[in-house]
Amino acid sequence: MKLRKEKKTDPLDTPVMRQYLELKTKHADAILLFRMGDFYELFLEDAELAAPIMDVALTRRQQDIPMAGVPYHSAEIYISRLLGSGHKVAIAEQENDPENPKLMRRAVRRVISPGTVLEESLLAGAAHSYLMAVVPAGDFAGLALADISTGTFFCLEIGGRSDRVADFEGGESNEPVYAPELRDRLLHYAPREILGTLETLNLLRAIPGVSGTLMTPLEGWRASALEGARQIKRRYETNLRGLGFVDEESPCLGAASLILHYVDRNFPDTGLRLDPPVFREVRSQVMGLDEQTIRNLDLVGAPGQSDRARTLFAVLDECRTAPGKRYLREALLSPLLDHGEITRRQDSVEALVQAKPLRTELAAGLSGVHDLERMLARQSAGRGAPRDFVAVRETIRIAIELGPLLEGSAALRLPPLSGSLEELARTLHDAIVEEPPAVLGGGPLVREGQDEELDRARAASVQGSQWLADLERSERERTGITNLRIKYNRVAGYFIEVSKGQIDRVPEDYRRRQTLTGYERYSNPALDELRETIEAADQTITQIEERIFGELCGAVLAAREDIKALMAGLARLDFLLGMALVAGRHAWTRPELVADGALLEVRDGRHPVVERFLESAADFIPNDIILDRQERAFGIITGPNMAGKSTYIRQVALIQLLAQMGAWVPARSAKLGIVDRIFTRIGAQDNLTRGESTFFVEMLETARILNQVGPRSLVIMDEVGRGTSTYDGMSLAWAIVEHLSDEDGPLPLCLFATHYHELTALAQRDSVFNLTMDVQEIDGKVVFLHRVKEGAADRSYGIHVARLAGLPASVIERAEERRAELESEDERRRSAEGERSRGRRARRQQESAQEYLF
Ligand code: ATP
Repeated sequence: MKLRKEKKTDPLDTPVMRQYLELKTKHADAILLFRMGDFYELFLEDAELAAPIMDVALTRRQQDIPMAGVPYHSAEIYISRLLGSGHKVAIAEQENDPENPKLMRRAVRRVISPGTVLEESLLAGAAHSYLMAVVPAGDFAGLALADISTGTFFCLEIGGRSDRVADFEGGESNEPVYAPELRDRLLHYAPREILGTLETLNLLRAIPGVSGTLMTPLEGWRASALEGARQIKRRYETNLRGLGFVDEESPCLGAASLILHYVDRNFPDTGLRLDPPVFREVRSQVMGLDEQTIRNLDLVGAPGQSDRARTLFAVLDECRTAPGKRYLREALLSPLLDHGEITRRQDSVEALVQAKPLRTELAAGLSGVHDLERMLARQSAGRGAPRDFVAVRETIRIAIELGPLLEGSAALRLPPLSGSLEELARTLHDAIVEEPPAVLGGGPLVREGQDEELDRARAASVQGSQWLADLERSERERTGITNLRIKYNRVAGYFIEVSKGQIDRVPEDYRRRQTLTGYERYSNPALDELRETIEAADQTITQIEERIFGELCGAVLAAREDIKALMAGLARLDFLLGMALVAGRHAWTRPELVADGALLEVRDGRHPVVERFLESAADFIPNDIILDRQERAFGIITGPNMAGKSTYIRQVALIQLLAQMGAWVPARSAKLGIVDRIFTRIGAQDNLTRGESTFFVEMLETARILNQVGPRSLVIMDEVGRGTSTYDGMSLAWAIVEHLSDEDGPLPLCLFATHYHELTALAQRDSVFNLTMDVQEIDGKVVFLHRVKEGAADRSYGIHVARLAGLPASVIERAEERRAELESEDERRRSAEGERSRGRRARRQQESAQEYLF
């Protein structure tokens, strides 16, 4: 007997799997979505890793290969889940292989990483979505930031000065000099992904507070300034000086190069056009806010923070458009320093505050403005869609309508609309139907009367449908098959369908094409002829619409610069309108800004965020503050827990910040100097993710303030020296107050809240004064009045607050007992001390009297 040898084939050794493995090797750091028909398939480790993240079933291909699949038309939701859990996704599309028509070829058309997302559905809201590249150079580092979704691209240089006290207790810190500023920038721009060389990324990972973001390594040669300069010159035909780069060897150029290379890699097909990278001189024009101030004042909410409603951004965000929201965030994080510039912004807000009807009309108009910045980025990556044309023509139409409304006010005028934009809007209006389909081919795109050939083809297609209906009727009559139907599907095209029970009536000229359980499908010469006509017409329609679509995309991209300028104008207008709406709705006032002099005089100031979250805004107790460099530079605030100290000092900083944004402020009146920096040190918070203890963080932040503060800075400090033993803490707090209020030092304006009542004795210094929070004790109960008054507190009512918080009665009783003991011990010590010093004085008097006698 002949034995049949069983041949064991390797399931990976098939044409499809060989293609898959080849692509996977090239994109080893991404999860590969491999298009097969109407699905994207994932295989092997990718399938095992991604199936639970995407929440789809893990199956097997040919019994051996783990596999998971998602339908191509709903892939974005699955992609967003993968991105959300920190993965990159490579997308391989299929196409016919010209050499072997039976085989499909696949190629990676796009790599999506958290920092290179373009699709609206994958972007988190309107905020900028930044990709950041870092190239260190000694004490400095060059940063490049690009928002792929809008094309924004710029560079910054950071570092160069030490923010730390070198020999602070724990010894000299070995983190790079630029690290604190890098943390500031990370919080400011919240990048989704960081690029760098392997060496740089290892360095960054070791910096506390930096490691949370996805990091992608790139080859070292791509990070050189020379390469950056070469790339920029080649792509943008502009010179580096024109973009603001003074130094041809700036590490920023290397960082820009990393971004350009990475974008090329992730958009292999179409490329993606970013704006030319401009060098931004951060420090000189705007107030740089550091990480702790952004956090402590709850300006924008940290990434991942759940309660974003309780931020200044949320309170100010009355913007109608996505570009307006981005403008607001940037304005909030970059308060102005120039008196003229602030006044101009204030004038613009004022023009809107004064004109209610204009506000209403503007609000209505801006609500219809689309996010053309993102639209342009999608278009430039070849991912435009028919509805983009509606967005463009609508937005231009609105800008044209807004023009005359703004004529009266120089402060609000939009930049002149170029004639080419008006023409573009007209072209798009004439060419495109009122409501085009979401995707090309999903329905009629081009208006009737635009293209004769297209109109003819459409008529043929419409007529064809009529002919089909006629043919169906005549075939029913001819064959007597009453339920005969002419149908269409994408795979089989047009066919005649007859149910099994009627097939004996099928005439000679019918050709069988397909057999189903209950039906047979046929064709006949008449249908063949009709099908050819209809298909030819449909093909013509598709071709012409594709051509016109391409031409219009070209026209939109050609107007790119004009569209960007228009959007910048609309974003600014939207921001100003938002400021005016907030000011009007919450009874804010225009602050008076004094060009010279350190001064802060606010009457009936309120905390813009806290007042919103009280049951009624009227529940918020307004308070005054007067600080000036001559006599009242340093306020020490004491008072009970929960009395409103933190709220008060924060509200002062927020009012200053709002004023320098050009916004109105929550107060009855405000007269303010311009400060160059706002420093904050608030609350005791552990930063365990950074591996730093509460007290260490507190001292780091304090060190940074003491090292950087200048005569035009505003400092607010809350609870300094709390995280250590009482005497250490109090001594440190004491020395810090002395240092900051030293008239021979920088002497900034400062508010210092503390529970160390001993510090109030420092009010004897010229620049220091005391403030306290008013409380009333009625029948042994403490009522917080939230009112600030001159003077010092002698108690903190901590035990009272603990009782309110629900500590067990036995603990409260014991605490009261212990406090009484401590107070009487203190009293005894003080009187013994008094006795001793009285004795010493008496002895000295006696001795000097004796000296005198002899
Ligand atoms: P602690 O010393 O315990 O840190 P604190 O004195 O700093 O307390 P805050 O945290 O500022 O107190 O305020 C406590 C609460 O009091 C706030 O959450 C707010 O609800 C309320 N509050 C503060 N200021 C006012 C005000 N001016 N008007 C009305 N309510 C206020």
